[in-house]
Amino acid sequence: MQLINQQTDFNYFYDVNAEVVANDLIFVVDSKSKIFMIDNDIPIFDGVAKLLDSIVCQFGVIGSQKCFIARLNSDLSDCYNSIRSSYKLLDISKFKAMLLANHLTTWINSHKYCGVCSGINELIERELFQKCKSCGNMNYPTVSPCVIGAIYDQDKILLARSPHFASNVYSCVAGFVSPGENIEQAFAREVMEEVGLSIKNIQYIASQPWPFPHSLMMGFIAEYDSGELKIDYNELEDARWFSIDELGDIILPSELSIASFLIEQVVNKYRLNKKSFV
Ligand SMILES: [Zn+2]
Repeated sequence: MQLINQQTDFNYFYDVNAEVVANDLIFVVDSKSKIFMIDNDIPIFDGVAKLLDSIVCQFGVIGSQKCFIARLNSDLSDCYNSIRSSYKLLDISKFKAMLLANHLTTWINSHKYCGVCSGINELIERELFQKCKSCGNMNYPTVSPCVIGAIYDQDKILLARSPHFASNVYSCVAGFVSPGENIEQAFAREVMEEVGLSIKNIQYIASQPWPFPHSLMMGFIAEYDSGELKIDYNELEDARWFSIDELGDIILPSELSIASFLIEQVVNKYRLNKKSFV
């Protein structure tokens, strides 16, 4: 099952002054978005108290355990795991908490100083934002809107691969929303820029926070309208029309990403239409 469909016991709860107790969960993320783990799990406070430099804030709760962002007092670089690969190690509630811990840690660490006066920013008690100690400028967590989508044309689906993808993986076209655009315009523009195609029947499907480091992915499916496939090789390594019946020949994106959910929507739509013609 895709990550976006999974219910969890994790709930957001921010408290910069919360008291940490023995069984609370401690999330430490490094500058490369790797997570500090002990025995392939998120440590509890009792197990790592001596290793901690500081507790930054509580950011959530799982059952009776509070979730804290913290910093270590030493490097311990051997104890960090890739966030994406820890999907198979952690239960889903801890995994979702870890994604938010990565988002917030990245934001806090990259906004230590005020953009207006270079003063020092600090987290505020009542709400999740940072305030400059000198001029009072407020700085809210960064969230970057992105659009992503699967394009279909009768029995075909258009998928693309970025040079950063693992070998033979094809996925949806995606990109950042520009100032002044609505998200449908942003998706149509990205498709035109990256693969040279006009699209129609743009349908919003779902969204997913994607904290690498701070995107909010808004997912679409859309129908091909006109134009010849013309790949922007500055962005993509390849893009092709695939027969939906033969999708098994390529590697699709992992269940972590909304891309897999969007591709599934196109496949289901195609199968439903095909059935109605039989
Ligand atoms: Zn300032």
